[in-house]
Amino acid sequence: MLMNGEVEERPMKSRIMATQSTLDDWRSSQEECPPLEDIASQVIAIMLTIPELVDLPVAELEQIPLGKLRKNATNLHAVCRYKKGVRKENGVGPEDVRCVDVHPEALTTKWMHYAAFLLYHEYLHALGFANHNRTFRQMEALWPDEEARSMGKAFGTHLRMRKAKWLWECPKCTISHPRTRRSNGRYRCRKCRVVLVDTPVDAKQANP
Ligand SMILES: [Zn+2]
Ligand SMILES: [Zn+2]
Repeated sequence: MLMNGEVEERPMKSRIMATQSTLDDWRSSQEECPPLEDIASQVIAIMLTIPELVDLPVAELEQIPLGKLRKNATNLHAVCRYKKGVRKENGVGPEDVRCVDVHPEALTTKWMHYAAFLLYHEYLHALGFANHNRTFRQMEALWPDEEARSMGKAFGTHLRMRKAKWLWECPKCTISHPRTRRSNGRYRCRKCRVVLVDTPVDAKQANP
């Protein structure tokens, strides 16, 4: 699964974009985000061109049912759900997957490149890379859309911002964390070690 990346930020390797995803053609031809199934087909088509995946049953990923997470999910961005009784220690394949669910908020023109990366991430789980270990992160880094690979933190902020009533702000570096509750002086900025200050969201946003 892919959780929001704010707490634990992992460095993204700088990499020159090797493939221009046809998602951009979609963007120019229509305002609406393509359906999840179309994004998935595109992701699988791109995966078929990645040499490191050539020995894996990538084409079988087409069989996996797709779904959406609940709209109010905040910490989960996407998930690969295995069928009942499947033990990932024994090695899994696409046939062991019950469904892959993506957050509906990612299925918008603004976030669809991230949705494609989320699918890629969950498809790696479906191909047998069960845990987020070093090998998994190396495979994940093969996704050619570098920008999409680094959108997790912004997407997490976007999800929390929908419900936020307070911004926990660092007076020194001005980083702000949207939250539903006040921090009441209990938290410090991880970078500056300065106590965060509560600011109501209404005071920041003209249209909440
Ligand atoms: Zn995952
Ligand atoms: Zn700070």
